[in-house]
Amino acid sequence: MLLIDCPHCGPRDETEFHYGGQAHVAYPADPHALSDREWAEFLFYRDNDRGLYAERWSHSLGCRKWFNAIRDTVTYDFTAIYPMGQARPDTAEAAPQASAIAEADPQPHPTAGFEGAVR
Ligand SMILES: [Zn+2]
Repeated sequence: MLLIDCPHCGPRDETEFHYGGQAHVAYPADPHALSDREWAEFLFYRDNDRGLYAERWSHSLGCRKWFNAIRDTVTYDFTAIYPMGQARPDTAEAAPQASAIAEADPQPHPTAGFEGAVR
């Protein structure tokens, strides 16, 4: 089981959090200028990278505040947690400061090792 380090409350069980999708998806400057396809891509298309991925999370059963995190989609390790509105940190520098890597249970995550068939 993962412990996620809420920047406001400290480490909490992953069941207290809600995943909010990819971080840093900018709203179009002029949405009326977009074609239907471009609008659909803004709404529904997200990166599906393997490895470090910037995500939005909400501590929905705690302080209910949103924050951004860099998570490795292969290992589930959080390498950085930072406030909404802040630019994505350089993950090479942020890795030593990781604060949400702890695992409370030595058992592997039920989906750990799942690499997905979609690439
Ligand atoms: Zn919190």
